[in-house]
Amino acid sequence: MIKASVIGWPIKHSRSPLIHGYWLKQHGIEGSYEKIAVEPGNLGAFVNSLRTGEYIGSNVTLPHKESVLTFVDLADERAQRIGAVNTIWREAGKLHATSTDGQGFVVSVETTVPNFQWKDACVTILGAGGSARALVDEMLRQDVERVDLYNRTSARAEQLAQHFGPRVHVVSAQTILDVFRCTHLLVNTTSAGLQGDMELQLPWPALRTDAIVADIVYTPLITTFLQDARKRGHAIVPGLGMLLHQAVPGFEKWFGVRPEVTQALHDLVARDIDPAYIR
Ligand code: NDP
Repeated sequence: MIKASVIGWPIKHSRSPLIHGYWLKQHGIEGSYEKIAVEPGNLGAFVNSLRTGEYIGSNVTLPHKESVLTFVDLADERAQRIGAVNTIWREAGKLHATSTDGQGFVVSVETTVPNFQWKDACVTILGAGGSARALVDEMLRQDVERVDLYNRTSARAEQLAQHFGPRVHVVSAQTILDVFRCTHLLVNTTSAGLQGDMELQLPWPALRTDAIVADIVYTPLITTFLQDARKRGHAIVPGLGMLLHQAVPGFEKWFGVRPEVTQALHDLVARDIDPAYIR
């Protein structure tokens, strides 16, 4: 029996057990995937238990994504560049860690808008928190021309731009208009999407008419931000796709099968988030 988990504090609302449980059943694997509430003070003890204990690995969510790095043996290059991880696995007695959020986002965009070209694209990211960091890293790997960061606290965006180098720029309320005119992909990574209480002024009419608009927030499934974009005729990429695709590499590491993100899985999780969901 192979066992994996997701840890966080709190962890009650995690949809990861639903996703991995679906794949375990689909592939007839004798395994389990559980959510475990781990208080910050118990993080080291839990991670150490992964070395020899019953769990072969774990997903990691807030608030442990950064602090957990101190307890693993081998963080891959991606994890080191981002300074955060969401997936841990045991291999040959060592604990390995990586971040799959950026890849999850990229695959979600490619699946929803198959003709989208990353190469030479101009991307605008709203927010400069942990997930923005993962997205910037992956987009630079995809060879985008530039990433513009627009954040409520501009000092945080400055830090990110300095960390990732010359292709990453900071936008202000004064310059966002010009940036919107040439943006191919606009992404919300602020937690503001939850309530529609975004504290950033967005000059929607200036946004390129063919710009794709994505949100990484997935509760609600279609955020106020995405509703605004859709009203203006933009193709949208909801956050649930990222959640589903970021789960794929972890399942493969722990259970040895690369699972697929199917429409049936999407609909199952969508209905769990919103019982009134209709495809
Ligand atoms: P962080 O706390 O690291 O960053 C939050 C960001 O949101 C900051 O840039 C913050 O700005 C900004 N922000 C918060 N409130 C507001 C507001 N009212 N108006 C404008 N900006 C605001 O969070 P994460 O980056 O880890 O996560 C962000 C969201 O993404 C969460 O809702 C999370 O659930 C979701 N997420 C989704 C994933 C998926 O798989 N789909 C994966 C990971 C995260 P400031 O710096 O000024 O405080």
